[in-house]
Amino acid sequence: MRDLSLLPKAHLHLHFTGSMRPATLADLARERGVRLPEALVDDDPLRVPADERGWFRFQRLYDAARAVVRGEEVMRRVVREAVEDDAAEGSGRLELQVDPTSYAPWVGGLTPALEIVLDEARLAARATGVEVGVVVAASRMRHPLEARTLARLAARHAGDGPGQVVGFGLSNDERRGETEDFAGAFAIARRAGLASVPHGGELLGPAHVEAVLTHLRPDRLGHGVRAAEDPRLLDLLVQEGVAFEACPASNVSLGVYRDEADVPLRALVAAGATVALGADDPLLFRSRLVDQYRIARAQGFDDRALADLARGSVQASRASPAVRAALLAGIDAWVAAPHDVRG
Ligand SMILES: [Zn+2]
Repeated sequence: MRDLSLLPKAHLHLHFTGSMRPATLADLARERGVRLPEALVDDDPLRVPADERGWFRFQRLYDAARAVVRGEEVMRRVVREAVEDDAAEGSGRLELQVDPTSYAPWVGGLTPALEIVLDEARLAARATGVEVGVVVAASRMRHPLEARTLARLAARHAGDGPGQVVGFGLSNDERRGETEDFAGAFAIARRAGLASVPHGGELLGPAHVEAVLTHLRPDRLGHGVRAAEDPRLLDLLVQEGVAFEACPASNVSLGVYRDEADVPLRALVAAGATVALGADDPLLFRSRLVDQYRIARAQGFDDRALADLARGSVQASRASPAVRAALLAGIDAWVAAPHDVRG
């Protein structure tokens, strides 16, 4: 078996605070004299049922982690370590998702909050060789007008260069807010050339995915896995070229599927979908990027099929032409290498 951490890949679904190393969270809590919930400091991945209470528990833990991310130095550390960790896992392209709203009060506003992330993304990219783009994400829990404000902010920083904004997302509890109310924000983002990358089809099924497809015109779906419940919808998404940011460990942690084997990666691939595996919130799920490829391997993906997943991640990314070509060549080389290399 080939070493999956040596397989070149792109990482398209990772949240800023959720990327944090557990040790860093513990450090920051100690510095601030904050006592963290037990579930954030033990080694067990979060396991909650796929209902409102489960989501509430996830959200409460996420908020507790976010509460220690106050100030520029801490924000820079979180970005830097996320990029370093991606580099160690064979990622050559990271698209890091951040909602600057939560960090704005500690650094003087939304614009500085985003600019800190962008500046550190640029520095970390230079230091590690991982190309980094940023996805600005609005929250379903907040007013759609706030999403428009964020879309305009994202648009002002749009670009394909290092440390620029490449996409616009919509995160948080899929059951909250009306999808169509966010159409205006996504139109602003699209006009600026940003990729449309909303969450959808994780906690809710095909009807929700259809609403997201109609109103937000996604280039990629955050998750989207539950589209597999409706073959006609899945075919439509494939025809429209919508890629899937599948995060199997996250799905199991949030109770969407009982077991890693149940996440429908094979159904998506069999339908012709482009699938980019992502870790979502490794801080809470205790499962990083390479672990997602291990889950696919356990489902029966052989090295050739795993290489196809990695190609999908690169193709669905906004990587520069040079990085794209280098990653694809690296994937070819990984498959061509002798298969008894152990990792
Ligand atoms: Zn997510």
